Amino acid sequence: MQRKDFIKTTLLGLASAPFLSFSKALKEDELYDVVIIGAGLSGLNAARLLAKAGKNILVLEAQERVGGRTWSQKIGQNDFIDIGGQWIGNGHEQMYKLVSEAGLRTFPTFTEGKNIFRLDGTNDKYKGDTPPLGMFALLSAQKALNRFEEASSKISLDAPWLSDNAYELDNQSLGSFIDENITNSKARKLVKQSLEAELCKSVEDVSLLQALSAARAAGSFKETGSGALRDRIFGGAQGVCNFLYSQIKNSVKLNSPVSFVNQMENHILIGNDNFSVKTKKVIITAPLPVVKNIKFTPALPTEKQILIDSMEMGTVIKCHAVYDKPFWRDAKLSGSMFCIDELVELSVDNSVPGSDKGIITSLISADRAKSLLKLSEQERKEFILRTYANLFGEQALSPIFYNDYSFTNNPWIGGAYSGHFKNGVFSKYGEYLAKPSGNIHWAGTETSTFFKGYMEGAVLSGERVAKEILM
Ligand SMILES: Cc1cc2nc3c(=O)[nH]c(=O)nc-3n(C[C@H](O)[C@H](O)[C@H](O)COP(=O)(O)OP(=O)(O)OC[C@H]3O[C@@H](n4cnc5c(N)ncnc54)[C@H](O)[C@@H]3O)c2cc1C
Repeated sequence: MQRKDFIKTTLLGLASAPFLSFSKALKEDELYDVVIIGAGLSGLNAARLLAKAGKNILVLEAQERVGGRTWSQKIGQNDFIDIGGQWIGNGHEQMYKLVSEAGLRTFPTFTEGKNIFRLDGTNDKYKGDTPPLGMFALLSAQKALNRFEEASSKISLDAPWLSDNAYELDNQSLGSFIDENITNSKARKLVKQSLEAELCKSVEDVSLLQALSAARAAGSFKETGSGALRDRIFGGAQGVCNFLYSQIKNSVKLNSPVSFVNQMENHILIGNDNFSVKTKKVIITAPLPVVKNIKFTPALPTEKQILIDSMEMGTVIKCHAVYDKPFWRDAKLSGSMFCIDELVELSVDNSVPGSDKGIITSLISADRAKSLLKLSEQERKEFILRTYANLFGEQALSPIFYNDYSFTNNPWIGGAYSGHFKNGVFSKYGEYLAKPSGNIHWAGTETSTFFKGYMEGAVLSGERVAKEILM
């Protein structure tokens, strides 16, 4: 296909994407059993389970599409990109189940060839998961990770705030734990940056309790790394949301941001300046920092409000460059790189099996993302492609399609991959995270006991909140 045809097909693909279709109008006179705010994985899963159980439900979604932090776009005939969540892996049982129910298929991420590790301006090539940092540095990193793993195994799964020393752990930063436990400076940099790539926040701004609890919720520290990044879904992860949406389409209202929730004597009134609906119960799945867009009457319990006020989303830019072919494979490169002390820190080969195109995707997180978001779109594109060229060759400067996006700029999500509390807040108020506030129930990946922050956590939280309501 010629470049211009490729771009044309891509644009056509976007225009006819299924998530743009509209749903039946809501019924303002009706008393719903449950209104769900947010049509991401958690909201849609809760909605379909409640609908299956015979509840009269309505989903109100602020954006013009379902999916929330999953968002996939078709590129040309055979290719696609995931602008949001994409990988599922070890332990993500509910996601694999939904993929299969939806008739979708998965494929493993491409990892053949050599990876690039860049430190102090020098590129080193290596195979496998362990970067060539030298025996001493690697041992030092491993020792600290073992200590982290051990501490994480002692954290209570259901109630991390009740774990031994929860208060102390919550008032210590993950960064200071790394400083205390890793003497080798190169190893320290590697571990800090790897963790920042996962948390999308500076390790100084994440409490040790939250980091240990997140690792525990994902099974073990190892599972939060390559184990969780194993498989992708053909067509994109948003396909799972589109499948859930197809089951309850008439009960989903898009383009409907909720700006007030008023608890009246016999029902809850919920809506915005243009509409309102009545319901017995509400489920809120919006990430807590954007719950600030909603006015509650009467006000929420103080503890809940403190959680809302102190959660911050991480920052990440996800960048895709599509090429005529995966040219880096000719040089026996895998397309994966990890750069220490550089703004563009991490990439993978995101090409789709069966396509002749090649896709390099990079994830730029935490303070590095904040710096690059200050550039104009064009400057950022040039900077990112120049980095690719330094690593993979000059062909990287000429993609046939380019996209970078940060959910930080999305007013209904506010950032990625998920939210974290300011240090000291989780141990004091964590028990109110998923606890209902009267007839207002809470879901979303951040509220999950298992795999919080992941798509799996979102699906599980949807199931938990549906059960809570059906009890
Ligand atoms: C760039 C990126 C990469 C990621 N990579 C991975 C990955 O590889 N693997 C993985 O497992 N996870 C990944 N994640 C995380 C994963 O996508 C999320 O955990 C999951 O999708 C969250 O689902 P949710 O339903 O909890 O929340 P959301 O998807 O955020 O859904 C909340 C919904 O509420 C809506 N909303 C907000 N406010 C209002 C309002 N006032 N009125 C009405 N609607 C409102 C929002 O528009 C949104 O649709 C990634 C996330 C991002 C952003």
